Amino acid sequence: MLMLKVMAVTPKRLRLRLQEPVIFVLALFGALISLSAQAEWQQQHRDIMGTRISVELWHSEPETAADCSEQVFAEMRRIDRLMSSYIEDSELSLINKNATAKPMPISSEMALLIEMSLYFSKVSKGAFDITYASVGYAYDYRKAVQPSEKLIDSKLPAINYRHIELAHNRVHFKHSDVRIDLGGIAKGYAVDRALAIITDCGITEAMISAGGDSRIVGDHRGRSWMIGIRHPRAEGEVALRVPLSDTAVSTSGDYERFFIDKGERVHHIINPTTGRSAKGSWSATVTGPNAMTTDALSTTVFILGPTAGIALIESLDGIDAIIIDNHGKVHYSSGFEQPEVEG
Ligand code: ADP
Ligand code: MG
Repeated sequence: MLMLKVMAVTPKRLRLRLQEPVIFVLALFGALISLSAQAEWQQQHRDIMGTRISVELWHSEPETAADCSEQVFAEMRRIDRLMSSYIEDSELSLINKNATAKPMPISSEMALLIEMSLYFSKVSKGAFDITYASVGYAYDYRKAVQPSEKLIDSKLPAINYRHIELAHNRVHFKHSDVRIDLGGIAKGYAVDRALAIITDCGITEAMISAGGDSRIVGDHRGRSWMIGIRHPRAEGEVALRVPLSDTAVSTSGDYERFFIDKGERVHHIINPTTGRSAKGSWSATVTGPNAMTTDALSTTVFILGPTAGIALIESLDGIDAIIIDNHGKVHYSSGFEQPEVEG
């Protein structure tokens, strides 16, 4: 039995300014007002990095807005060329080929991403670990392929972020089977880079999204953005709506890339201790100051599950989370006002 209902969740800091019934009215008014204001909200989409990139911004000159959006898309393409594991000569692919032999010089941008990944590994006690790819590479969700038990057993020792040595823009893998993948953090980084471009354009009201990772600047002209969290088990339905302003928000879900094998869901978020899909959550949403942080933490909290996940979030300043566990129960960190559950 699903315990999910479509309802509004309110971050407490916003709650201070709003009365309870206003939230629902807000959602309705949001839809109405955006119709009347459509002329000045400029919206563009592109498919880059294997996902839908969307730039929505408020600007009086459509040409400037379009130019800024193009700069964002160009930046996303540049980051993809650097960090995609699907591009054979991307910097990431070259690292996976060469960094086991000896320390390999890398760009300072790549060094930053690896350094941040190691930071999230430490705070999550290894739940977030880019060396998950040492086993993860053997999954192909589109072709419904998963590694044999034998392969998982033999490669599992390579999953350990401590095998990564990073110093002076050089990286070295201390175990010969290590592979890394930045799929849990790179989109968030790209969204942060996009926000810098938008800000340089002088834009103060915008939302930029790369799949499940978004950054909001401004407050949607005084009305907040209503962010829908997808229902993890009812396609096309929204489980929760959250009004948000000036924040980053990321959602990780087991419905993004998966196949069902003998009744079991095999999906793309890997528990580093087992080398298999993490089981404790259906989805995890995290809000915070930047999208690199919320991207990494949504993946992390998804893997940790509701108890350890919420505990980690409560230990971090300025971060909040909503976790839908593997029974459909919703868990909130203390920054969210928990709605009354009906029925
Ligand atoms: P997406 O938005 O692509 O669904 P998520 O933020 O939900 O991405 O993270 C899932 C991605 O993170 C996977 O596709 C994979 O690239 C990467 N990943 C999977 N397991 C881990 C892990 N334990 N640690 C770090 N990254 C992971
Ligand atoms: Mg993530």
